[in-house]
Amino acid sequence: MLKIVFLGTAGSFPTSKRNPSCVFVNHEGELLLFDCGEGAQKRMMQAKCGMLNISSIFITHFHADHILGIPGLIQTLSFNDRKQPLVIYGPKGVESFVKLFVALGQFKPCFDVQSVEVSGRDVIVRDGYRITVFNTVHGVPSVGYALIEDERPGRFNRECAIALGVPPGPLFRKLHHGESVEINGRIVASEEVVGPPRRGRKIVYTGDTRPTEEIVKASLGADVLIHDASMADDLGDWARTTKHSTAGEAARTAADAGVKQLILTHISARYGDSTDVLINNARDIFENTAVAYDLMELVVPYPK
Ligand SMILES: [Zn+2]
Ligand SMILES: [Zn+2]
Repeated sequence: MLKIVFLGTAGSFPTSKRNPSCVFVNHEGELLLFDCGEGAQKRMMQAKCGMLNISSIFITHFHADHILGIPGLIQTLSFNDRKQPLVIYGPKGVESFVKLFVALGQFKPCFDVQSVEVSGRDVIVRDGYRITVFNTVHGVPSVGYALIEDERPGRFNRECAIALGVPPGPLFRKLHHGESVEINGRIVASEEVVGPPRRGRKIVYTGDTRPTEEIVKASLGADVLIHDASMADDLGDWARTTKHSTAGEAARTAADAGVKQLILTHISARYGDSTDVLINNARDIFENTAVAYDLMELVVPYPK
């Protein structure tokens, strides 16, 4: 399963309906957070997403609306007697911030809190997927992250295997995983019954940023692009000044990168009553767009 839950979708400060930035990802049972704004714990409880087993937090930058949830989360995990380490990734400065988060609790957590500094083009290899890091432009050290699954074996042609004399059972599994098998003195190669490898899924989270060519490259062919869309296109000058993106700019990135779906987030409080203008700006350029809301869930299917 690859599931995304939007735990915080507000731009810069919370509103009565939106918490600051936090995106939860469940990848085949491994639980990850991308940014961890204020109130993230409460949203994780509401989402029932298993917050005690979060393995890693990927921070895009150290503005308060992306990190204030971390000290409280560390304290809660410690009260619950966590043992496994919590790894916090982030751009330059992450080590001192993590020390500060831990110190804020004024007690030593009963688990290890580790910091890992990342910068553009770093690749974090995990079991079955990798996280690639790319630079963003926000006026402070900042990065975005792409979660890219490993390729899957190609489709197994059962009928063909049986026709070649392979009995259903363990030999099917061997063939499907690339091994050759011998049947009645004849070698059956994996390629005879298995199609070409199939790509895995890919999701991209930009954090706060101006649109850039590097983001387009990092997002190429993504199943889901989660992009800063703090404001509508009529505030383009303000987006440039504050180093954020408009909905139309996010959509242009989505179109240029050929992604399947665009999710707009980091929504300014000025769109509290209606986000229609953001959707309209974006859909003029990229049709398959939605505006994230707190507790919105998205299950990402395998590409056909
Ligand atoms: Zn922000
Ligand atoms: Zn920011």
